[in-house]
Amino acid sequence: MRRTKIVATLGPATDSVKSLSEMIRAGVDVVRLNLSHGPWPVHQKRIRMARQAATEVGVEIGIMLDTRGPEVRLGSLKSPLHLTPGDRIEIGQQGPDSLPNLTVSWGGLFETVKPGESLWIDDGRIVVEVESVEADRMTLIARNGGTVQSHKKLSRPESGWPLDPLTDFDEECLIRGIQEEAIDFVALSFVRTIDDVFWVRRFLEQHDLETFLIAKIENRMGMDNLEEILRVSDGVMVARGDLGVELPEEEVPELQKTIIEAANASGKPVITATQMLESMVEHDRPTRAEVTDVANAIWDGSDAVMLSAETAIGNYPVATVAMMARIAERAEQSSTFRRRREFQRERVADVVSHAAAEIAEELRARAILTPTESGYTARMVSRSRPKTPILALSSHIKSLRQLTVFWGVLGIRMERIEESDDMVKEAIATTIQNGLLDQGDLVVVTAGTPYGTPGTTNLVRVETIAEPILHGQGVGADLAAVTGPIVYLPLVGVPPRHFVAVVEGYRPEWVAMLDNAIAIVSTDLGLSSDLAVFATTRHIPAVVGLQGIGEALPEGHYVTVDPVRGIVYRGRVKV
Ligand code: PEP
Repeated sequence: MRRTKIVATLGPATDSVKSLSEMIRAGVDVVRLNLSHGPWPVHQKRIRMARQAATEVGVEIGIMLDTRGPEVRLGSLKSPLHLTPGDRIEIGQQGPDSLPNLTVSWGGLFETVKPGESLWIDDGRIVVEVESVEADRMTLIARNGGTVQSHKKLSRPESGWPLDPLTDFDEECLIRGIQEEAIDFVALSFVRTIDDVFWVRRFLEQHDLETFLIAKIENRMGMDNLEEILRVSDGVMVARGDLGVELPEEEVPELQKTIIEAANASGKPVITATQMLESMVEHDRPTRAEVTDVANAIWDGSDAVMLSAETAIGNYPVATVAMMARIAERAEQSSTFRRRREFQRERVADVVSHAAAEIAEELRARAILTPTESGYTARMVSRSRPKTPILALSSHIKSLRQLTVFWGVLGIRMERIEESDDMVKEAIATTIQNGLLDQGDLVVVTAGTPYGTPGTTNLVRVETIAEPILHGQGVGADLAAVTGPIVYLPLVGVPPRHFVAVVEGYRPEWVAMLDNAIAIVSTDLGLSSDLAVFATTRHIPAVVGLQGIGEALPEGHYVTVDPVRGIVYRGRVKV
């Protein structure tokens, strides 16, 4: 199971249920709708196609709306505008045919900018300087050459635009998206301060809406206020596209590591985004540098890695997702670069969930099961980055969908059960039904009781999924359980290596044979029986006092003998 999650941006290149299904099969966990491009009906159609595709594939995916945020864009141009250094252009609020040459989406621009300021068009591809400003227009001088296309972003490096965190369009999409389409995440563009996040939370609460808020860190103010922003958000995104526009490109690698580290420490998920496999927009293979970038982002501690143009408008959306999944799987195999997470453990939930992860690794458990209504316990365990897969069981579809962005967590639907013994049994039965666990597997179960109260992770249990065939008296409390094929004594022929000897009574002529057995099971009664004494002195695990051996233990069948509990299990069992 791949641990790192993949977020893929939807666009014209992914506009069919068939290609979305293929992308989900290839590894997409979360789809992202970028509200900077296209009207609501287009996004709504894509959301519905994505849900249909996920249903066809039989998995839950997360759906993320990425807001326009406080950004300023140029208007429509009849034809691209070619600039050479020194060219003068005007920006105003009129139509496309008349002067000024360019229009903008926000009239407040003219009272905000000052002569002498540098502005960037199209993520810094074109740099212009403000020469003069009037009430409804301004004159700019191109500092370099290039071609300006319609709707390109106009950025103000370093300080950004003094706009509300959401545009009217964002607000409309959030209301419709969360209310009608059950959106799981909202990515907030250009978050500058803690107040931006509160502003959006207030807006959502006023409309009785609730969703995960992922703060995109993409400018200097966002970086300066990172710790605070993390405290009030549900996760963050390293939005490297705009980070490299608003701040010098050469700072991006260090900023990426700083953001990931802070998110890891706070236990919030972090998505690393933009240009991860950019060359695959056009080519069917990535560059070596891109492959290395994805692996490094994973080793840095990303919960998820994101594709933007690669899937939205790329020529190879499915191949790109498959490539990203392969890179992630390979990176996760490296024990050298796998980083254990260290974080402050002050609350009971911190300590218990971390201990569950440690126990699972030490026992080489097959999985960590987290029955969880809100997803809280699974999120807590994910923080420790255990090698062991985290299977989160919940009756809440919303919780399962929100877990799609967390490292190492696979969500599974389970009926809500409050009583802890029954809850553990149901969790195990559900994972077996889903083909994720088998007889003989050892699992660690962690949950919160009373069940359904987020924040109460306080229970850890180690369970073996096993079918006991016979119960008796164990001999060898200091010995480990062993597995082997049944051989009845007296034996005809040569015994297999590592066999479990079944005997009734003890005969001295069997000693040589019994010395070669890895375990002994017997009908003999008592710890002082000859057979029990023999097993004890020879350090051979045994279970004595068994009834009905003949029918229960056919010759040649594999069993596991647990000398501590005095149980014989069918098959190979990790006890
Ligand atoms: C980014 O800037 O890296 C980003 C993810 O945001 P957008 O794609 O909206 O520019």
